[in-house]
Amino acid sequence: MKALFLFATTLVLPVAAADHLPPLLPWDGPTQALIQPQHPWVTPAELTDLTATPDYAQTISYLKKLVESSPLFRLEVVGQSPQGRDIYLVKASTQPDLVGKSGRPTLLVQAGIHSGEIDGKDAGLMLLRDIAHGDKAGLLAQVDLLFIPVLSVDAHERRGEHHRMNQRGPLQQGWRSNASNLNLNRDYAKADSLEMQALLKVLNQYQPDLYMDVHVTDGEDYQYDITYGFNEPFASLSPNGASWLAQVYRPYLDRQLSRQGHIPGPLVFGLDRMDFSKGLSGSTSTPRFSNGYGDVRHLPTILVENHSLKPYKQRVLGTYVLLEQTLKLLQDQGKALQLAKKADENFRPQQQVLLFKAAEQPELIHFKGISYEIAQSDISKAPYVKWTGQAKDYVDFPVYWEKVPAIETEVPSAYWIPPQYQDVIKRLEIHGVKMSRLTAAKTLELQQLVASKPEFAGKSFEGRVGVSATFTPQWRQLELAPGSVRVSTDQPLGALAVALLQPQAPDSFFSWGFFHGMFERTEYFETYAIIPWIEQQLVADPKLKQQFDEAVKADATLQKDGQARLDWFYQRSPFYDEQYLKYPVLLER
Ligand SMILES: [Zn+2]
Repeated sequence: MKALFLFATTLVLPVAAADHLPPLLPWDGPTQALIQPQHPWVTPAELTDLTATPDYAQTISYLKKLVESSPLFRLEVVGQSPQGRDIYLVKASTQPDLVGKSGRPTLLVQAGIHSGEIDGKDAGLMLLRDIAHGDKAGLLAQVDLLFIPVLSVDAHERRGEHHRMNQRGPLQQGWRSNASNLNLNRDYAKADSLEMQALLKVLNQYQPDLYMDVHVTDGEDYQYDITYGFNEPFASLSPNGASWLAQVYRPYLDRQLSRQGHIPGPLVFGLDRMDFSKGLSGSTSTPRFSNGYGDVRHLPTILVENHSLKPYKQRVLGTYVLLEQTLKLLQDQGKALQLAKKADENFRPQQQVLLFKAAEQPELIHFKGISYEIAQSDISKAPYVKWTGQAKDYVDFPVYWEKVPAIETEVPSAYWIPPQYQDVIKRLEIHGVKMSRLTAAKTLELQQLVASKPEFAGKSFEGRVGVSATFTPQWRQLELAPGSVRVSTDQPLGALAVALLQPQAPDSFFSWGFFHGMFERTEYFETYAIIPWIEQQLVADPKLKQQFDEAVKADATLQKDGQARLDWFYQRSPFYDEQYLKYPVLLER
């Protein structure tokens, strides 16, 4: 019975995996010469002419042998996944034991945060092979490389031929979310997953100068095979690093990729699924994403999105060029990047934008698109976009960049976290934020944020129910308990502290639901106790009677709801829970 049930619900597709995808533009780039099937150190993916990718055991087995074969490499276990698999980091340098200490420009490349999008792993293995046993050792002359072959290691082993419906290869693909069904590229700020905690440890231990997170797109068809982006200088919290990326990195990489037969493009998304000609949206990422997180912690970060409709081989080879040329550029421009990063770390702005929204005025760009027609489906009985596979260039094509501040805050000098919020304090430690702890109680004049109109998300997202609220600041004389933690914003990770602790920020701990307790009132009154108490108060304070009468006159609920009237007095009484609706983290200004 069980087998019959499965047969009835699972469509078995007797067709080649990509037969349902739109037609391809032909590609015959010169980088195909990088594939070396006869090399004694041929990588597992090259043995399949870059049509398949090895499983985790094969990947790590190859990597361990490669690392042992060269004095340039070290392999380190940086953490364990929820299912107990090791997460590996390769250190590649002429001084591999000094990576992170030598002061050399350091590139961190991370593959497989979404394990079905694994191009970076196979490109990285080929490049490491060519560094150790080919003619590319010069790439490490003045630059160090850190390489995470697979971050989402459990999901890498949830392999199947039907895990990426909109993507051309590899043959077997891993899964987007980790074993606990968390999307790791939404987890940078809240850091719920073991994989993310391992990665943050790497960022703090090795302090790379440039971070590259390699993905594959979904969405529209276009001519580009390698698209990449970062938070642009006009919407960046790291304006010096972002300018380096926009003015030094992008022109150089675009030129190199084009020279080698690839088609680099910007990281943008169609505005309207049914009408591509309306233009594009250029997003500014918040710190839940790699590039938004990098921006807020002053780590220049590039989000690479290879185009899902291009064949695996073309994507891996383009990624190889991207990695190789990034190392080359760092050889000449790495010191300038380090200076830009330092300037961002030393900058102490008084205001911080927490969220950007799209500009009404577009920027006009030349866009290498693919033509499409609107077809009618007999199944959905609705029109849909059908990509034709023919190149179509758009001149003066509008991009609406998210560069207008939507939520902004004045930066306090510090935040104070009560000791009971251990979970929040622990996450800040994992992020590398510096803190100091009170050893004895202390009274300070601090700002408390009082929440009103809380709105809880209608459904779970990333295992959490998010919340937003309106906040009213109040100055209070407050006694801080021993063990309270002070988080100064006068530190290199000050902007990150604001993004995590200022509750209005979209990826703050508050927004992700770490403080839901503040919305629950647990103490209450009995009618037999409060009515005599109110009567006593009214006798003692004639003004209270007057205030109450005015409140009833102005409020329809108080006029008809007896319980609401008792509540009116309770809220003004010393019996009322003074922590209710108060954001527990306090602001020092
Ligand atoms: Zn992805």
